[in-house]
Amino acid sequence: KTDLMQGKRGLIMGLANDKSIAWGIAKACAEAGAELAFSYQGDALKKRVDPLAQSVGSDIVLPCDVGDEASIDALFEALAERWGKLDFIVHAIGFSDKGELRGRYVDTSRANFQMSMDISVYSFTAVVQRAEKMMTEGGSCLTLTYYGAEKVMPHYNVMGVAKAALEASVRYLAEDLGKKNIRVNAISAGTIKTLAASGIGDFRLIMKWNEYNSPLRRTVTQDEVGKSALYLLSDLGSAVTGEVHHVDAGYHVVGMKAVDAPDI
Ligand code: NAD
Repeated sequence: KTDLMQGKRGLIMGLANDKSIAWGIAKACAEAGAELAFSYQGDALKKRVDPLAQSVGSDIVLPCDVGDEASIDALFEALAERWGKLDFIVHAIGFSDKGELRGRYVDTSRANFQMSMDISVYSFTAVVQRAEKMMTEGGSCLTLTYYGAEKVMPHYNVMGVAKAALEASVRYLAEDLGKKNIRVNAISAGTIKTLAASGIGDFRLIMKWNEYNSPLRRTVTQDEVGKSALYLLSDLGSAVTGEVHHVDAGYHVVGMKAVDAPDI
């Protein structure tokens, strides 16, 4: 336990359940003394998010569909009523039609391409736009990305293209907001079994492959992503912006991957 985040207020977006990467980050921030607010998508998730928020001492749980401008505005208006200023945001949101997260990228439809880019890429910019106004004393914004942005991963398809655009937007946002001492970074997380991940074809095999080939010979946990997020969200990362930081047991540095992974 530290007091690294004492006096800091942050909005966590993308909590679906206790397996969510957002939850690993929320716990790490709360343990370090941060005050948290949560947004969730759709009524069905509220009953999951409420008790989790309560368990880290938060009673600010607000709905937000990031595909809807009015919904993002309503979230930030409600947040501004409770808090004068904001110190950090976590955007742990991505979405694509499951039917296109298997098979070939070349078969991606225009409708799903646009939807995936809108929810998984533009929403981060839309949220940062609103957060900027509340980050009157500087701030830190964090999103989540994946190695499929850099290299072709089986079945990741349109999400890989979306994550590449998301990583580029991190760099542009960092430049725009740096003058206000608002930092913008991404964590490129290793594979973790979450609701969103279970929609990706052959995900179990991809997990095994990571475990066998990463330098640490394992996958990563949501708590480990949480610890690294704490560095980027707190003063420990005060000179870090525009960065895509890999928290993937080193998987991304390995060039020649073994082919005889057992049990897959
Ligand atoms: P998750 O299913 O727990 O979280 C995804 C969240 O996105 C959910 O809370 C969902 O409600 C939210 N969401 C989707 N559409 C939305 C919308 N229109 N408006 C508001 N919220 C919406 O899964 P996760 O794995 O924790 O995903 C969090 C982030 O981490 C995603 O960006 C994902 O791409 C990224 N990521 C995941 C992995 C992994 O292996 N799990 C690896 C690298 C990066």
